Amino acid sequence: MWLAFGFASRSKPFGSSSRLFASVSHVAAAATTNNPGAHPIIRTYATQKNKASTRKLSEPQSELLDQVDVFLFDCDGVIWRGDSLIDGIPKTLNTLRKLGKKVFFVTNNATKSRAGNKKKFEALGLDVAAEEIFPSSFAAAAYLEKTRFKERGKKIYVIGEVGICEELDVIGVPHIGGPSDSDKIPEMGRGGKLIVDKDVGGVIVGLDRNINYYKIQYAQLCINENGAEFIATNSDAVGHFTDAQEWAGAGSMVGAIKGCTGQEPTIVGKPSPLIIDYLTEKLDLNKERICMVGDRLDTDILFGTNNGLKSVLVLSGVTTEERLLSPENTIIPDFYADTINDFLMDTPSKVGR
Ligand SMILES: [Mg+2]
Repeated sequence: MWLAFGFASRSKPFGSSSRLFASVSHVAAAATTNNPGAHPIIRTYATQKNKASTRKLSEPQSELLDQVDVFLFDCDGVIWRGDSLIDGIPKTLNTLRKLGKKVFFVTNNATKSRAGNKKKFEALGLDVAAEEIFPSSFAAAAYLEKTRFKERGKKIYVIGEVGICEELDVIGVPHIGGPSDSDKIPEMGRGGKLIVDKDVGGVIVGLDRNINYYKIQYAQLCINENGAEFIATNSDAVGHFTDAQEWAGAGSMVGAIKGCTGQEPTIVGKPSPLIIDYLTEKLDLNKERICMVGDRLDTDILFGTNNGLKSVLVLSGVTTEERLLSPENTIIPDFYADTINDFLMDTPSKVGR
């Protein structure tokens, strides 16, 4: 089955470790507060470091590269902004690979599958294998595999875009909703009611730029009346879906379903540990030698600090240096840099350039 994910031939199975379930349920349980700012994980980990422990990579030094074998890169704000590649990125990625570093891309954007993301990388001139890309659409499918959802003979209702549907197709889990419900309007005349498929056992909610009342009502009935599991790809408040402004993120869709069900979802994207558990178990990686690189404190850097990884905040996306160093911020990376190009300031001699 894991062959579908491209790892079966070169790595060990994603075993029956209860750690992943414990971690995921911990995130879900921790999120039961109505105040996201009081998230116990954020408080526990964020206060373990002080601001003096983060340093800008502003001088040639090899400390970061010497400590890291695997880089996990967020995409938007790190590799590209909207559909514009950030200057110097292809050369930097190539150099990191020449230095023997493994490179993966972990994005909370679920609108594309692995295959869809690979096309975007290719369109931007980046040579990346599908197996190196971990969108939260893939994380949702990985979660269903881990929880043996398919064996229950149920289907998924999707609030989201084609990326989630494509990943469900890869693992053979039937699904309804998604793009095919984008034009639907519920009948709400006298006696009007929406009849839902009783075989829906789970609702996956991700960024859906065509969300409507029909989809919200369908999901509400599946969860409240069918007892379907509520799964969210991520709960990001906003994203840079164009390079001109911030746009409402998947958190707005997730919030709609939370609002009508009173339930908290199981979150599979960052900062949930699901993908790092998947990677470390499948590829036998040492967490201490992995570095998460991102432009968001509350997803990327928290994902790193919560999971025992090194972390670097880059200022090429949504977070400013002022915000990072402000007294209000309690999520502290090991390093920060203007862009990932700064990782290689002292490496010319090492790679023979
Ligand atoms: Mg980002």
